[in-house]
Amino acid sequence: EQFCNFLPKIELHAHLNGSLSATSLQKLGCSNEEISEYQKLAELQATEKTLNECFKLFKVAHNATKNPQAVYLATKYVIEDFYNDNVAYLELRTTPREEENMSRVEYIESVVKAIEDCDKKIIVKLLLSIDRSNNLKVEENMEVIIKMKEKYPHVIKGVDFSGNPYVGGFNPKLFQKARDSGLFVTLHCAEIKNDKEVEEILKFRPDRIGHGTFLLSNDHIWKLYLDTNIPLECCLTSNVACGTTKSYKEHHLQEWIKNSLPFTLCTDDKGVFGTTLSKELVLACQYFSLKPTDLWDMTLKTISYTFASDEEKTFLTTTLQDWKMKNH
Ligand code: IMP
Repeated sequence: EQFCNFLPKIELHAHLNGSLSATSLQKLGCSNEEISEYQKLAELQATEKTLNECFKLFKVAHNATKNPQAVYLATKYVIEDFYNDNVAYLELRTTPREEENMSRVEYIESVVKAIEDCDKKIIVKLLLSIDRSNNLKVEENMEVIIKMKEKYPHVIKGVDFSGNPYVGGFNPKLFQKARDSGLFVTLHCAEIKNDKEVEEILKFRPDRIGHGTFLLSNDHIWKLYLDTNIPLECCLTSNVACGTTKSYKEHHLQEWIKNSLPFTLCTDDKGVFGTTLSKELVLACQYFSLKPTDLWDMTLKTISYTFASDEEKTFLTTTLQDWKMKNH
């Protein structure tokens, strides 16, 4: 456990508003009632929850981040939490949101500013999410994202495709535009069974995929995936909490480990699911017999899955090697 806490870690799949802790929500002015609702839902047993219900949890956080100042603070708090958990490199993702007192551009600028102002020893990059359930505005949202990437290329590195998987669908042309503009692409994939969409996603060959829960439920799809060798962002607690995976023991991660496929461990929404990246590493040891050296190796490999620059990758490699020298 100590090893997992102190290892310099890499987090590649963390949604900003789902990563807010109860303490941060309190600081952002949430009432005790709202917070206990947020926590109560998070504490429900997997069997008592559905994926649809999980998506309702984000409302509490969204209500607390409706103006640029609150978005700035929320970003700052989330970065601090990851820093305190010894995360050395963080790719934070968030959906640019338009509110009564805030445009999507202002939303993005608040997040970028909080990242730029960060004085901690942690590298933070931003991925902007396209919410699949907001079908009407996807084209417009992508245009805003691309424009903002041109303005802040040192911070904005990629796009993500997320939101309630029961709603909307994948549009390859839209994400090709992002790719053509120099953005990396990571897509939520096979969170529920939806073979047609999963096939389209795999054919698009994103740089990474999130969850991948139902890739194994169809031989044809699994073969397609094996051909791509795309790194998986694996979110153990989130999958079990949302009930898309029955238990930790039966989690599909075991297939990745067994077949030496590329994966990295992630928190998804550490606030909503009450987890930390260290805890996710502990769980992987507990259920899949990973040893500290395996976690170190996984972290080293994860450096190559990041959307960081070559210099940053070299820096992270050195950080990890120095840490090993000092601790073993
Ligand atoms: P935000 O993008 O910073 O507002 O973070 C919360 C949002 O991330 C949610 O409203 C969803 O759109 C998305 N999200 C968080 N967790 C998941 C997940 O497990 N699957 C798909 N989308 C998710």
